[in-house]
Amino acid sequence: MYNVTLIPGDGIGPEITEAVQQIISAAGVDIKWQTVNAGANVMEEYGTPLPEEVLQSIKKNKVALKGPITTPVGSGFRSVNVAIRQKLDLYVNLRPAKILKGAPTQFSDLDVVIFRENTEGLYAGIEHNVGDNAAESIKITTREASERIVRAAFEYALENDREQVTAVHKANILKLSDGLFKSVAEEVAQDYPDIKFNNKIVDNMCMQLVQYPEDYDVLVLPNLYGDIVSDLCAGLIGGLGVTPGANLNDQLAVFEAVHGSAPDIAGEDKANPIALLLSACLMLEHLGEEKAASQIETAIEEVLTRGEVLTADLGGTATTTELTEEIINQL
Ligand code: NAD
Repeated sequence: MYNVTLIPGDGIGPEITEAVQQIISAAGVDIKWQTVNAGANVMEEYGTPLPEEVLQSIKKNKVALKGPITTPVGSGFRSVNVAIRQKLDLYVNLRPAKILKGAPTQFSDLDVVIFRENTEGLYAGIEHNVGDNAAESIKITTREASERIVRAAFEYALENDREQVTAVHKANILKLSDGLFKSVAEEVAQDYPDIKFNNKIVDNMCMQLVQYPEDYDVLVLPNLYGDIVSDLCAGLIGGLGVTPGANLNDQLAVFEAVHGSAPDIAGEDKANPIALLLSACLMLEHLGEEKAASQIETAIEEVLTRGEVLTADLGGTATTTELTEEIINQL
């Protein structure tokens, strides 16, 4: 039995986390979930959207499954999702983008793994107004954070028989910050002579991924580019409903889908649980339950290939409940 922290989140979070718990249990993995809550719903009770007990629970269990949490736009509290990553120093945002059998996409061959720097860059949160008509946001790039994310990408490539790492940047314009990221990546690459290394400017990278997706393998990017390019990849593999993710450091792992809380469909039994389920498969692999993870992935591919019970984002009319039952039936 494994002790795992569960953060259901808000919006579609509670619906999809419940679906994923049911599927994991049907796959025969015994997890003792410790449920803790964060976000706007706990503000009144705790006076903060991120109660200390959430962080303590993740530190204790070392593994968490997290639903999406809404961030107020413009004003209000800063992102709880970003705060969890920063407070726990979860410096790797891992976002695999692989086309599953049966996935609704016009592309046939994309299997990239994104390593997004998760702690600094334009997400450092250093912003201020300059008078009434201007604002400044400061982008932070350090050698230390750049080095550890690039190293994590190369280590992953070695462990998972990947052939190539591509560092993505805009060093032609941001000569100092992205220039540092690029030169650190080139230095680290020298320690991994068996892995091919190249680098690409981020705008070109976006075009290359759409035109020649098969040419790319492991990508490593500063925070903001990683966020944007991973949504681009989500679009290439069939949408946010099928794109998983994880936030990692050397001790802790928080697994969550790339998508947000989808307030437009929350509470309507319409959300696709597959992205969170694939994130949970990464969690099962992390826990050493590779067999259950691959059993669930095969069940998902079977359901996608049959195409009879799909949620609206995948072109169907099924509810979350029906899709969950269909996946369980294929296990
Ligand atoms: P979103 O990902 O929530 O939704 C974008 C579109 O994709 C919507 O039309 C939504 O209905 C659809 N969608 C997303 N996930 C889906 C799923 N599982 N099944 C079916 N359709 C799905 O992005 P947004 O609207 O920009 O953000 C909504 C809120 O979520 C914001 O407050 C944002 O800050 C937050 N957010 C949280 C996280 C996180 O918790 N890690 C990540 C991204 C956004």
